[in-house]
Amino acid sequence: MTPTPPTFDKPVRRTVFVADLKCYMCGTVCGSIESEQSLDGATRGPRPVLLRKPGESTVTQVADWRRERCTRCHGPLYLDESDVVTRRVDSYNWLDERPRRGRPPKRLLEERRRERELAESQAA
Ligand SMILES: [Zn+2]
Repeated sequence: MTPTPPTFDKPVRRTVFVADLKCYMCGTVCGSIESEQSLDGATRGPRPVLLRKPGESTVTQVADWRRERCTRCHGPLYLDESDVVTRRVDSYNWLDERPRRGRPPKRLLEERRRERELAESQAA
């Protein structure tokens, strides 16, 4: 199995597919899964996803969420409330987003110069 190289095409935002893992039998939500690929293609074989269990802050990678079983009754799980979220990548450099400060327009500088010359000529 070859690791997929990281892609740098879109460093700013990342689309993540998330869904709750719910039990067919008792309806318990046994965690939520995250994947960078669509979760809709359920028939195209298992894909590794990140599993976050309720009450735990760490995520674990599971090769096939279908092998997971309900923590309460060991029933089979299905995906519920699937959603697509867009996240900003943490390493994003906000300083690049600062609006560039332009110099004052030339017309304004010209006006100020004329006013100063007028004031000087009146003072003389
Ligand atoms: Zn259950």
